[in-house]
Amino acid sequence: AKSDGRGRWAVFDPDRHAREVARYTLAATMPAAVEHGEFVVEYQPLVSLESDRLWGVEALVRWRHPQLGLLPPDQFINLAEETGAIVPLGRWVLQSACAQAQAWQAIAGPDFRVSVNLAVRQAHEQDLTEEVAAVLRDTGLPADRLVLELTESAIMGPAAEPLRALHTLAEMGVRLAIDDFGTGYSNLAYLRELPVHALKIAGSFVSGTPTARRTSTDPVDERIVATLVELAHALDLTVIAEGVETDEQAARLRAIGCDVGQGWHFARPSGPAAITARLAAEHHR
Ligand code: C2E
Ligand code: CA
Ligand code: CA
Repeated sequence: AKSDGRGRWAVFDPDRHAREVARYTLAATMPAAVEHGEFVVEYQPLVSLESDRLWGVEALVRWRHPQLGLLPPDQFINLAEETGAIVPLGRWVLQSACAQAQAWQAIAGPDFRVSVNLAVRQAHEQDLTEEVAAVLRDTGLPADRLVLELTESAIMGPAAEPLRALHTLAEMGVRLAIDDFGTGYSNLAYLRELPVHALKIAGSFVSGTPTARRTSTDPVDERIVATLVELAHALDLTVIAEGVETDEQAARLRAIGCDVGQGWHFARPSGPAAITARLAAEHHR
């Protein structure tokens, strides 16, 4: 018997052992893979439900692994968090996304932003604000064109106190969005204390994804979403619905008054060229 590291004991399982070895190997190669340029950033549209125009894009990282092919983030982000490789990787994603967004500014104008996910470990880095400031300086992207997406667990420090660094970032003009809103802490006091700009309602409430426990038309979920939209608006926040997969979901969200939608119904994540083309079409250039 062997501990699985979570305080449980399990009989030795050869398949599982092989998976752990594979995980360990993958983890060990990550820092070099960042240096070798094996990671790519895709962008998924965040679409204004009122105007149908781009409100912004979310940067989503993928690993173009030389042997394993294109790996989605759920195969390496947790691993990167555990080993600390998320710090250099996250910095690289931030730098790439801000450089790309700066290039898009010329076509899009000021009403367009790039949203970048911040891992728990990154959020608690000592030099987070300096790092973000340096990237904005290097790329020339105005601070208010950058949205940092944090989950509730990334926001709450070990002492259950919201991160101070987030105030400094907000003073710089950087926007903060709460990712997967509604799936984390039930204590919402941090919404009063932090300069939050947007709430992203988790796809599990919108389309039943990724947990897929409910169907799209479940009235309980619709009431939850409507309540979250009301809460966001009462606090003067932009509300973004994730995981919008169907026409019907988009129509209901629009009717409820949700501001922005993200999901396969609008567009899948893609390379930057598709975003450039869409911005050019929207701005007739
Ligand atoms: P997330 O931040 O909640 O990102 C949204 C995820 O939902 C993305 O998965 C996106 O491709 C997927 N998605 C978009 N529309 C739909 C839809 O209509 N239906 C369904 N079922 N899914 C949809 P992806 O790209 O696989 O990323 C998964 C997670 O990995 C992200 O969840 C985020 O937590 C993490 N992640 C991705 N990129 C980064 C990054 O650069 N840094 C960090 N720390 N985490 C990242
Ligand atoms: Ca996100
Ligand atoms: Ca999310």
